[in-house]
Amino acid sequence: MKEIRYIPFEKTDAQLKDEYMSALSRFLDEKQYILGKEVRKFEENWAAFCQTKYAVGVGNGYDALFLALKSVNLGPGDEIIVPSHTFAATTLAVVNTGATPILVDADPQTFNIDVGKIESSITSRTKAILVVHLYGNPCDMEKILSICDQHKLLLIEDNAQSHGARYKEKATGSFGIVSATSFYPVKNLGALGDAGIVNTSDENVFEKLKLLRNYGSPDKHKMILPGVNSRLDELQAAFLNIKLKHLATWNKERKKIANQYYRHLQDTGPLQTCMQPECVESANHIFPVLVKERDKLRAHLLSKGIHTLRHYPLPYHLEPAFSHLNYTRGSFPVTENICEKEISLPIFPGLKEDEVSFICKEIRSFYRSR
Ligand SMILES: *Cc1c(COP(=O)(O)O)cnc(C)c1O
Repeated sequence: MKEIRYIPFEKTDAQLKDEYMSALSRFLDEKQYILGKEVRKFEENWAAFCQTKYAVGVGNGYDALFLALKSVNLGPGDEIIVPSHTFAATTLAVVNTGATPILVDADPQTFNIDVGKIESSITSRTKAILVVHLYGNPCDMEKILSICDQHKLLLIEDNAQSHGARYKEKATGSFGIVSATSFYPVKNLGALGDAGIVNTSDENVFEKLKLLRNYGSPDKHKMILPGVNSRLDELQAAFLNIKLKHLATWNKERKKIANQYYRHLQDTGPLQTCMQPECVESANHIFPVLVKERDKLRAHLLSKGIHTLRHYPLPYHLEPAFSHLNYTRGSFPVTENICEKEISLPIFPGLKEDEVSFICKEIRSFYRSR
């Protein structure tokens, strides 16, 4: 039996190993350890890739979110609307600025923030909406932009799962005044360690971000504002420059796999796929399905060598870290339902057509035998 693991790195790493090694060797020769030319090059490349004027490389995705919020002066006394269905880092960044996150439930079809529920959550203290293009699928940007416009709210994007996604031809990460991205190794564009970046087209925000990530310091002997130390690592930037050249091709492979899943899993018993509206180009970071008998299905698939994951097993509003927000079970029924039923099927560049067919066949045979 052949194993189908959830995310094998071997394929891309083997393909690029020689390039990694020569980047490392250049790095050792040049000794530009901090904020050198690879970081500058990657910031330019990533800004262009996301259709923004600027990008500022930082240590990881969480710092990118935190510094994005700081760069537009959000903090204590401000309310920021966030999705209840996301990776907890999104909301943790809001909490750690001192601002108050106001959670909004997910849409039962797209699993992204339910735009119909945003306006009733806006108060006189609301300053911003932080959207997440979860699983790689762009949010309903037309409606969200119009709400921001009407209520004079800042728009911020968490672009960690949507590298290369488009909403009506426009890149995710280019809608907000500022947007944050992670290059955690499993993302569509993953570093070989921690890395993140912040995008903006606003020159003032750009200048502030460069200070914030570097102690608030424009040069060695000045500190203009209380920043942090969170700089994109030079070596990670070199690896990211190498990998970025392949991202569009890898995303095409992901799209082919997703389309195959959509075709083969249509009308498969009690299984719901995540709706991708016509006007979006998904990055297909994760392929989530909502299923009945979740654990038995996962066990069946595993017995056939097929690994699956869950994103996310527990809605974060039920985690102890967020108990001070005073949400309880029942606060966000759609999110709770998704977390209860969701499993993530393998989707990665290099997953073969016959492997996807095999996964779909095993899902169908599990439900036929019930
Ligand atoms: C991965 C991820 C993050 C955090 O990124 P790190 O680099 O691990 O800090 C934030 N938000 C979302 C939606 C993510 O998927």
